[in-house]
Amino acid sequence: MKKSIYYKKHKKYKKTYVLLKYIPFIILFIIMIIFFVKFNNKDKLDISLSNVASFKISSDNIIALEEVSKKYNIDFYEILTYYAIENNFFNDKNLDISNIEKDFIINYDSIKSKYSKKSVEPYYNLIKNIIEEIKNFPIPLEYANNYIYGDSYGAERTYGGKRIHTGTDIMDKENIVGRIPIISMTDGIIENIGWNEKGGYRVGIKSKSGNYYYYAHLDKFEEGMEKGKEILAGDTIGYMGNTGYSKIEGTKGNFETHLHLGIEAQTNLTNDELWINPYPFLSLIENRQKNSKN
Ligand SMILES: [Zn+2]
Repeated sequence: MKKSIYYKKHKKYKKTYVLLKYIPFIILFIIMIIFFVKFNNKDKLDISLSNVASFKISSDNIIALEEVSKKYNIDFYEILTYYAIENNFFNDKNLDISNIEKDFIINYDSIKSKYSKKSVEPYYNLIKNIIEEIKNFPIPLEYANNYIYGDSYGAERTYGGKRIHTGTDIMDKENIVGRIPIISMTDGIIENIGWNEKGGYRVGIKSKSGNYYYYAHLDKFEEGMEKGKEILAGDTIGYMGNTGYSKIEGTKGNFETHLHLGIEAQTNLTNDELWINPYPFLSLIENRQKNSKN
């Protein structure tokens, strides 16, 4: 009787011993799963793409931020990216940037450490590619007194079904058709040219980074513009007009004379089209150009 109990016990120990042998591997496996889940989450930020696209930073704030980046010798694209991420791409409130030094710069390293590099990279690239490749405002500086524009991204549009405005409208102040030349903001290749129902006479230029710059409602194209043509920043592509909102090619006058400018960003954040708000980029380049002229 005793013997048999001993034997049973021993057998049990043997079994336990075999199990014990595997415990380190099991623990390692669990740790790996925890790390995998944790890092996977860390590599994705909780920001909706529509908030990224509507990028609501004001003209004054983006210009001020560039000054701050110079003052503290921080990469401007980086500081803009982290500032945008920390503030939901400026969708919630109008930021008071005057506190940036005491609220943001002083904590910059700890703010940066909250996010993995990998999670920030797509936003950084998105911002950097656009700012780096935009060389000029789409209208020559000598016409600076003839146009006006504001941030109209997200405003309601009804032609062709209820939708939101996914660009910036730059208006001719006196509503004069065909007087203001439209110049390319970037180098690139003409990918689309001709009539489309919403855009009227439009030119679409793809830059090296893959971003697509869309210039719509032109009165006419500059001579020699054609699909596949290589364009340099500053080249005249056409003249401001009021064409579009019709299936009939050449329809004019359905609205005031203006340029609709759109930027469809190439980004690995999504496989869908991402039309990002051009307004902050326009105001930044316009300010840089005006300052370098003075
Ligand atoms: Zn528009």
